[in-house]
Amino acid sequence: MTSAGRFAPSPSGELHVGNLRTAILAWLFAKSSGRDFLLRVEDLDRARSGAEAEQLRDLEAIGVSWDAAVVRQTERAALYDDAIARLTHEGRTYECFCTRREIQEAPSAPHAPQGAYPGTCRRLSHAEREIRRASRPASIRLLADVAEWGVEDQLHGKYVGVVDDFVLRRNDGVTAYNLAVVVDDAAQGIDQVVRGDDLLPSTPRQAYLARLLGLPVPEYAHVPLVVNHDGARLAKRDGAVTLGDLAAVGIPAERVRDLILESLHLPAGPLPDVLAAFNPGNLPKEPWVWITPRS
Ligand SMILES: [Zn+2]
Repeated sequence: MTSAGRFAPSPSGELHVGNLRTAILAWLFAKSSGRDFLLRVEDLDRARSGAEAEQLRDLEAIGVSWDAAVVRQTERAALYDDAIARLTHEGRTYECFCTRREIQEAPSAPHAPQGAYPGTCRRLSHAEREIRRASRPASIRLLADVAEWGVEDQLHGKYVGVVDDFVLRRNDGVTAYNLAVVVDDAAQGIDQVVRGDDLLPSTPRQAYLARLLGLPVPEYAHVPLVVNHDGARLAKRDGAVTLGDLAAVGIPAERVRDLILESLHLPAGPLPDVLAAFNPGNLPKEPWVWITPRS
């Protein structure tokens, strides 16, 4: 089995500077530690026709290379089904018929954090379940036997977060992100996960699920996001933020790559030339405020 890092975009539109910066970081973490680098397209949800090809082209333009064929989540249903079947066989899943509104309005368990599933459908009898199946398709939830779990993060240190009975399969039949990401990382031999720090809070759920499935827990590094001048997470509406937009105002891909590297206190690219200077301990801890440069 390989030892690999990865970048896993959702093909919902063009990558922006924040996505590209995370991709560069993931590549640098992987290559500087002797790993392969893999790409996975997370297209279970929100796929837009043509977006995948645009994203791959943009990654190549800034010098992010990958070492094996691109994997797409929509081609991997059998792996997800198998993982859910194993958990179900062990009595670790149950059907949930709650609407979003019912979950919001349910009294939460004592000490449970905002948004944690209160466990309503855990206690349904067989007969109650039969009745509810007739009116609404069920989602499948994990029966968690812990309330929190700890992970080790290369940039954040020890991080303990909530584990509730989170959804494994949505009631429209789509595999939930938390399940797919755990199954895919293990199946691809990914033992290093570098991604935006907005995903740190869901990481304890994933590490706990990996343990239940008998899968190795990868190393984690959750990196700071790129924000706009108001401090909000960068979005398409924040002006010229994609390679296409930036090229149109006279800023080529190599310059975008070098601006990203500069924001990481690293020398100019191409990327392989930067590896010798890359040290995770020296990365900035704060978000990077993006201001569209003059050409
Ligand atoms: Zn429920």
